[in-house]
Amino acid sequence: MAKMKAWNFYEPEVMRFEDEDIPVISDNEVLVKVKAVGICGSDVSYYYGHSPLGTASGKGPLYLGHEAAGVIVSLGGIPAGLGLFKEGDRVAINPVQQCNACPACMRGEFHECGHCEVIGVSVNGCFAEYVKVKYTHVYKIPNEVSFESAALAEPVACSTHGVTLLDIKLGQTALVYGLGSIGLMMVQLVKAAGAGKVIAIGAHDFGLVKAKELGATHVINSRETASPYYAASVEQKVIEINSGEKAPRCIVATGNMNAVEDALNLTGPCSTIVYFGLPGPKDELKIPVLDALQAERTLKFSWLAPLVWDNVFAVMASGQVKVEPLVTHKFSLEETEKGIRFMKEGKGDKIKGIVVIN
Ligand SMILES: [Zn+2]
Ligand SMILES: [Zn+2]
Repeated sequence: MAKMKAWNFYEPEVMRFEDEDIPVISDNEVLVKVKAVGICGSDVSYYYGHSPLGTASGKGPLYLGHEAAGVIVSLGGIPAGLGLFKEGDRVAINPVQQCNACPACMRGEFHECGHCEVIGVSVNGCFAEYVKVKYTHVYKIPNEVSFESAALAEPVACSTHGVTLLDIKLGQTALVYGLGSIGLMMVQLVKAAGAGKVIAIGAHDFGLVKAKELGATHVINSRETASPYYAASVEQKVIEINSGEKAPRCIVATGNMNAVEDALNLTGPCSTIVYFGLPGPKDELKIPVLDALQAERTLKFSWLAPLVWDNVFAVMASGQVKVEPLVTHKFSLEETEKGIRFMKEGKGDKIKGIVVIN
């Protein structure tokens, strides 16, 4: 059996770089030689044992890594017969492999399929030289999109779904709360979706400066008093920027529950808030209901990325969403564990880490 190198995650903080069998594909799969993999916040969370894996036991061994792009090196009978793909095709991977047969799938609610195989979460992922993927879950990437950018198509897809739910009307002011890699994708997406003023709110100037470069019209630092963007009252600042009113749209790109409560204070009547973050299993929200009722508020929750991938490659190819400026750290496959640890513990400014495989 031909061998490859892969990172086996066994239990929290135990991950080993081992010789493994190259995956054997079935008729409906393709084998992808991995070229680039994003290090997701959820990979970090699995690595440190903060979230259970999607396996039956919630535990490893499993290769993590679900944000990936690479090259098709072999095809199962079905994709070969259909002529949709050939060896050498450059593809991005949609890790959420729904069953296509359950009631949720029938409705196109693929993100709610109860029979999903999720690459890097419930089945072996991409911190490896090769990964097998259902042919329905690899998408050819445009020539102008690099492997490194295409690896981030999955978080762009999730961000796109969130911004779609935000339902922006032309010219509306949109707040983006939280400026990690997802928030910085959303700054660009709300702009592309037609927002007028785009107000980015974060706690560090590094993210705020990036947000400005990527199209935010206003930035507010909510924490660092020495920052030139600091506002003692974010609420007053938003009202000032938005011509005397609270904002009509806010997307929350952080797991922090306080951010949702802040969002309720920063938005006005008939506003829409979309929550996009990964909360802890016991987190709860407290909402003033009478106010929410009288203000006829809409609060939505955004999960994964159904039905958006075609748009994702279009916005990436057109330059409406740029992901290169978000990549602050690159690691080799050998350095994967170091990279995951760095994204949590490392000092200095960091937004997105990726593993690049030569
Ligand atoms: Zn991810
Ligand atoms: Zn299903």
